[in-house]
Amino acid sequence: MPKFVPYDVQVIRQRFPILNRKVKGKDLVYFDNAATAQKPIEVIEALSHYYSTYNANIHRGLHTLADEATAAFEETRNAVKEFIGAAHVEEIIFTKGTTESINLIASSWGEAFLSKGDEIILSSLEHHANIVPWQMIAEKKGAVIKVIPMNDEGQMDMNGFHALLSEKTKMVAVVHASNALGIIHPVEEIIRAAHERGAAVLIDGAQSSVHLDIDVREMDCDFYVFSGHKVYGPTGTGIAYGKKQILESMPPFLGGGEMIKEVSFEKTTYNDLPFKFEAGTPNIADVIALRPALEFINQLGKFAIREHENALLIEITARLQQVEGVRIIGAVDHKVPVVSFVADGAHPQDLAYLLDNNGIAVRTGHHCAQPLMKRLGIVGTTRVSFAAYNTLQEVDAFMVALEKSLKMLR
Ligand code: PLP
Repeated sequence: MPKFVPYDVQVIRQRFPILNRKVKGKDLVYFDNAATAQKPIEVIEALSHYYSTYNANIHRGLHTLADEATAAFEETRNAVKEFIGAAHVEEIIFTKGTTESINLIASSWGEAFLSKGDEIILSSLEHHANIVPWQMIAEKKGAVIKVIPMNDEGQMDMNGFHALLSEKTKMVAVVHASNALGIIHPVEEIIRAAHERGAAVLIDGAQSSVHLDIDVREMDCDFYVFSGHKVYGPTGTGIAYGKKQILESMPPFLGGGEMIKEVSFEKTTYNDLPFKFEAGTPNIADVIALRPALEFINQLGKFAIREHENALLIEITARLQQVEGVRIIGAVDHKVPVVSFVADGAHPQDLAYLLDNNGIAVRTGHHCAQPLMKRLGIVGTTRVSFAAYNTLQEVDAFMVALEKSLKMLR
């Protein structure tokens, strides 16, 4: 049985050195967690420990440092497998982020399985990372992209989705939780319906992996991708999960060392999974330091983190709804802790600047989801996104700074 650890946000904050810093003379309030999360001390120390005690290239070396580095690297793979409930460790491929993971899958899976006239279904809410790679492979293979419509709140129109499905559908690639609005989409229904038509499904888990319980076997998605830096881990780490049978039938993405069994000028044979998709020296230090990040989440438990973050989300939503001229986009119940809003008479960029003067970091703009902004008829939003270490006092500080900034702008 895991040991019960009571949720004490002040104790949790002590594990994040950056939270002690000041910005413009004020206590930092970091509300840009959907862009990247801050790192606990264990992650920072793992990086330093690797470089100061066992830095070596992995898998090929026959010396102590190489053995230690290889073991630590592969331990993270195992930790990721547990984190998302994969069946096999070789289904976990390390990349440098969600973007690279989707490029890998679109390029390699698309090369093997797409033909002229085939259809790829995306949604109106996708991050550019889950649009452009599909456009690139669609252009190459003569495939067609179809887009799931959405309602004005930012929820996917499921009737619209079902109407798009046909024998031509080969891939459905959708975001689990929208980075721009926070809305959680009904991926289980999408996966079931796509599979009934024989289509594969990729779930962009960049925003869901840190907040929701992920079990890829139960979900039954064919691919699930996410970034290490959004789950309190280092930048430059990403995961591409794929069902073993499908990954085995895909050609490699990049060629080079590590991904081969034998190379000759006549014929090269490729390595087994997962190495077939990991050409060259990987991001060893950062992958190793991803494990303590996952341990941080596991120790607290996603349920406890969610309860805490949801309390913040409920509070800020209620308070924003009381501010004159502020409109929350996507004010629905089923969300990750993200709130996106527009304010009359205040351009999001001006607002971000004024909030920063108060030590508050938020994200503004189109959130790499330009088609979504166009559909909503807005240039962008101001987005607050919470993590395990945020507090109600920070929400108070934010509300005071927001009201003050709006007064200055109007
Ligand atoms: N997909 C979603 C939903 C995201 O929120 C992000 C990043 O914000 C990405 C993809 C791209 O992630 P990365 O920049 O880590 O590759």
